Amino acid sequence: DAQMDDARYVATLVRTAAGYGAHVANRARVTAFLREGERVVGVRVRDVEGGGEYEVRAKQVVNATGVWTDDTQALIGERGQFHVRASKGIHLVVPKDRIHSTTGLILRTEKSVLFVIPWGRHWIIGTTDTDWDLDKAHPAASSADIDYLLEHVNSVLNVPLGRDDVEGVYAGLRPLLAGESDATSKLSREHTVAHPVPGLVVVAGGKYTTYRVMAKDAVDEAVHGLDQRVAQCVTEEVPLLGAEGYRALWNARARIAARAGLHVVRVEHLLNRYGSMAEELLGLIEGDARLGEPLAGAEDYLRAEIVYAASHEGARHLDDVLTRRTRISIETFDRGTRCARECADLMAPV
Ligand SMILES: Cc1cc2nc3c(=O)[nH]c(=O)nc-3n(C[C@H](O)[C@H](O)[C@H](O)COP(=O)(O)OP(=O)(O)OC[C@H]3O[C@@H](n4cnc5c(N)ncnc54)[C@H](O)[C@@H]3O)c2cc1C
Repeated sequence: DAQMDDARYVATLVRTAAGYGAHVANRARVTAFLREGERVVGVRVRDVEGGGEYEVRAKQVVNATGVWTDDTQALIGERGQFHVRASKGIHLVVPKDRIHSTTGLILRTEKSVLFVIPWGRHWIIGTTDTDWDLDKAHPAASSADIDYLLEHVNSVLNVPLGRDDVEGVYAGLRPLLAGESDATSKLSREHTVAHPVPGLVVVAGGKYTTYRVMAKDAVDEAVHGLDQRVAQCVTEEVPLLGAEGYRALWNARARIAARAGLHVVRVEHLLNRYGSMAEELLGLIEGDARLGEPLAGAEDYLRAEIVYAASHEGARHLDDVLTRRTRISIETFDRGTRCARECADLMAPV
């Protein structure tokens, strides 16, 4: 709940699932549910990347579509049992030297709390909590959101922050189970699992911190609908890819750095971002020393990370790399335009 990179977390989770034999498909949009009578027996999927439509049959379908739950439930043609509202939250990113503090800060606001979180060579300041009913794929920060955050953080800073200090801004949507309360900040952060029609399980609400409980509850419910026995859930004991071996590598980071010809800070950066899979990136650098060099214009990142995003992490487009596999788009004042050409050149051959 204190520090995580949500996009990297999801990508790592998906890779972990694939490692256990799950078939995964990115940019695949469900356009309809397949029905046999009342029962859901699969989905129709459009390949948004390559074109074409496919049918995927399943004994049980789990719908876990966050703030889109109302839309996907509407594909069933029946009234959903609950509604999910989108609550927008934004964050500001400012360079580390703009706030002279050795610790993060937690401030109380009228409505909630505000965090000032150390983030590499930056601070993250957030968040807000307001309703959002425009395009769910593109939540955007308003001028008022930015002023709200600056005003609150400036109330405790000796040297106030201005708009020019803001390197990046990003916005996200929380999927909140809609209830009686009008203010999104009062809605439940709990999750709900439902089985609206045979063959279909819906899970909605919740938080990142509770995602394994959410997944267990949803899968247990799906298992109920199967006519075979399934072993007990073991998610609590299953580490993500890159977790195993991480601590030993961290202890050995100085030695690893010397062997790879990198500064130890670079190895720490790789271990923080990839866990023990950092070894795969070090392997790329061993094969081509130029990949051990920083990106011009986004010097926190090594060229190898861009190649790896394309070869191992399913990145297909420049914005995948600049905004999700890395955070270059919010950690540089130019949103990554200076390093975009170099990134494209690194990705293209892969
Ligand atoms: C500003 C902010 C701060 C937060 N802070 C915290 C925190 O500190 N701690 C915490 O635990 N949580 C936090 N959260 C909440 C957390 O981010 C969310 O609970 C979580 O991201 C929800 O994940 P999800 O997978 O349920 O939904 P989403 O991340 O919304 O994913 C839904 C997915 O469904 C896909 N989808 C939609 N329709 C279709 C379709 N027709 N076919 C195929 N796919 C489809 C979408 O593309 C999307 O990938 C925060 C959220 C925000 C916005």
